[in-house]
Amino acid sequence: NVAKPHRNLIRLLSSGNYEVTTPLNFINGARVDSIDPVELIDVIEPATGKVICQMPESGTSDVNEAIKSSRQAQVAWADLSGFERGKLLSKSALLLKQKQEEIARIEVYDTGKPIQEARMDVQTAIDALEYYGGIASTICGQHFNLSNGSFGYTRREPLGVVAAIGAWNYPIQIAAWKAAPALAGGNSVVCKPSQFTPLSAVSLAEVFTEAGFPLGLFNVVQGGAVTGNTLTGHKGVAKVTFTGSVETGSKVMGSCARDIRHVTLELGGKSPLILFNDCDITNAINGALNANFFSQGQVCSNGTRVFIHKDIYEEVVGNLVQRTQAIKHGDPHHEQTKMGAMINPQHADKVMGFIERARQEGAEILCGGELVKMEDPVLHGGSYISPCIISEYCFDEMEISREETFGPVMNVYSFQSEEEVVRRANHSKYGLASGVFTNDLKRAHRVAAKMEAGSCYVNNYNIFPMEMPFGGFKQSGLGRENGTVTMDYFTQLKTVYFEMNDVDSPF
Ligand code: NAD
Repeated sequence: NVAKPHRNLIRLLSSGNYEVTTPLNFINGARVDSIDPVELIDVIEPATGKVICQMPESGTSDVNEAIKSSRQAQVAWADLSGFERGKLLSKSALLLKQKQEEIARIEVYDTGKPIQEARMDVQTAIDALEYYGGIASTICGQHFNLSNGSFGYTRREPLGVVAAIGAWNYPIQIAAWKAAPALAGGNSVVCKPSQFTPLSAVSLAEVFTEAGFPLGLFNVVQGGAVTGNTLTGHKGVAKVTFTGSVETGSKVMGSCARDIRHVTLELGGKSPLILFNDCDITNAINGALNANFFSQGQVCSNGTRVFIHKDIYEEVVGNLVQRTQAIKHGDPHHEQTKMGAMINPQHADKVMGFIERARQEGAEILCGGELVKMEDPVLHGGSYISPCIISEYCFDEMEISREETFGPVMNVYSFQSEEEVVRRANHSKYGLASGVFTNDLKRAHRVAAKMEAGSCYVNNYNIFPMEMPFGGFKQSGLGRENGTVTMDYFTQLKTVYFEMNDVDSPF
């Protein structure tokens, strides 16, 4: 009974009616066709399985063009003061804010995540531009007074062209989190988004152009492993900043090692979240849900191993199951949808494989873990997995406890003592994040200090303020994103010694 104009609006803001007709490489201030595509890749709308466009696996000539134009732009850009660079970054933040809804919609077509989350993702990109716009003018070195009037100082200098390679789960956020500090530091960027989510990086490039950035300062080349590998091995690239899996990260690091190229790696995780029996149970349950079900569970920092003290185990798990079963699954463009589609059928099969093998190994599935057919026929080509909780009978050594599932799958385990849970929480090759819910101050600090992870959340989870550094221990990565410390990873330090006296020599 919805009035016709309103029905049309709902249809427009639903999945299945979007196509991309413009080229997706962006070089020197404009969208351009690939010069030498290695092949054409179908870009799928996850919600429907529909092909929304084809894009190139960009070849060597495309990468060469992008790096050449990026290098030219970088030289002039590095001559600006940090304050001048910062003003343009701040302006781009304002322009991105004006396009927040448009780009959030693009992100939904590309990723299958709910619109409400996509809006938050664009906001985190805006925040990055604003934050690094603000601190660009503060990038500086140190001054040293030496003997007899001599002195020294350090300069933080740009690296040159930065290759930014992204994963598909947070495309606009990843592009902006890499671009903002790189540009603030006087570098230029050649961005290669994931081949599964090519769209929003190009929108970001258009925003930068509109803001008045030099043409070529932020270029985009599309493609998968071939284009990525060409970039990471390119002599014109000074640094690679990479977000993706450990397996690919290792290849990227190997490729950078050949020419001793700088590299930052933001990789996967299998993070622990510990709920002690003295915690606020309602907050802990909310925290555990937030730690697992954003973006259909496809979040690197997710606290997928939830350790719950035996005294509160039954109560917490009962609540978690109830809340998880109530999660509204559906068209990611609809406002009430809380969980959308998996990125593609191949990834959904991988996640279902983890769940099936866990079942075979003896784990009990408390809820979800099924491929769901949506009522709306438009969505039948998408892959939807009902959010899943796997019980205590999933032991620490099972594959589901060790490997990154990267889907809507929460494992719950019960524990008895602090010593036991710290040991079990750290029993992982990963070390991206960790969390603890407790009202005991001393315990909170003690456990946070013991976590072998780049972040530890106390009484919350999956919060990413721009000023707080983020990155991994162990195989979860190298370097940091966000915060002022990230400028160290996007600049190089020069030491200048200044002699004020005559020079003696023994020769
Ligand atoms: P992936 O490793 O398959 O791909 C990541 C990127 O690398 C893509 O752009 C891909 O095209 C490119 N690539 C593939 N082979 C390459 C090669 N040989 N050389 C250079 N580039 C190459 O990862 P994914 O499936 O896109 O993303 C999921 C992974 O990303 C998960 O492990 C997740 O935890 C991780 N992730 C980490 C963070 C973080 O901040 N730590 C954030 C988001 C995602």
